[in-house]
Amino acid sequence: MPLLQGRVLLHENALNVPRPRHALANDLSGVVMTGANADARAFQLRTDTGYKGTLLIDSAPYASYTATADEPFMAPPDELFAAVDDSLTFQKARGASAALTPTGYIPPANSKALKAVMREANQIERADTLVSLPIDVTWLNRENIGQLIAVCAKIRHPKAVILFRQFDPLEQAKDVPANLRRLFTEVEHMSLLRTDLAALDVMAHGALCAGIGVQSSLRHAIPPDEKPQTGKRGGGPTYPHVLMPQLMCFKGAESLSNLYANADPATCDCEECDGRGLNRFFLPDGETRREADNHTVFTWSTWVSELASYRAGTERKTWWRNKCAAAVDRYALENQRIGLGASPKSGFQVPPPLKAWATLPANP
Ligand SMILES: [Zn+2]
Repeated sequence: MPLLQGRVLLHENALNVPRPRHALANDLSGVVMTGANADARAFQLRTDTGYKGTLLIDSAPYASYTATADEPFMAPPDELFAAVDDSLTFQKARGASAALTPTGYIPPANSKALKAVMREANQIERADTLVSLPIDVTWLNRENIGQLIAVCAKIRHPKAVILFRQFDPLEQAKDVPANLRRLFTEVEHMSLLRTDLAALDVMAHGALCAGIGVQSSLRHAIPPDEKPQTGKRGGGPTYPHVLMPQLMCFKGAESLSNLYANADPATCDCEECDGRGLNRFFLPDGETRREADNHTVFTWSTWVSELASYRAGTERKTWWRNKCAAAVDRYALENQRIGLGASPKSGFQVPPPLKAWATLPANP
């Protein structure tokens, strides 16, 4: 899989007309076209914009289909008798660099469904296949991680894990960040798609590749029978979640506008921001959203380049750990600077996964 090795891909929403992203023009990146219609959008990206980089097509069958012991892969509804092989060939014909298996969502502790994915995947006689593993995040709990590792090790193709959970999957239980890292350390040729900064954690620890969503709904997935919860009552416009360069967390544009209401906002030196404040994204128009997304992609792209400049192994892991630890230390300073130091509930809060990455041993 040389086309994927060492890359952090960007999940683009297939609802939108594809356009080339300036921040992604290097050998460490690529695109995952994600959602219904991903194949048509991917083809459009190749033909209309002339995109030549690494490309995956994730039509997200796991959003509507649950894997069973008999049928772990979803057959496309309009091709009732199509084999999995046809789905893989179709993705390649639409421009994909490698093909993702149409695996259904694998529910908590459903060993039969997980083993069926392994069995069916090992029947595939192709060298261009990534076995998609859309797992409930409880597979990373203490009781299940052993079996997950054992099954993944027996799948003879590269694998792509997608984590399911409302809000941030890594906050589901305390040991999830450590166990996710263990999965990526103990099994070869693993990738983590549709995630957030966990992409950098697994890349530092030897992942094949990873994928970060351009918007928060593409940074995790939710089970087919659940509706997304946004933590926002009453509907209304949604605002982008912005990556904070110093604090290494995603923060909603509305809370940033509130937090910096009476203080100088944190600024950013990326190509999009050019020194401007990060409180400027609390507007519902498309141009503001594009600016916010570009800022976020520029910010983590820089980190990916930095990570790649360190030698794989201890050097890379240590750099990542130190970077996370430095970010954790900045929370108290930033809260103090904007006058929220005294009340721990009102300012910026360290996300538990970031704290874990900052404190887990670089070499266990
Ligand atoms: Zn910026």
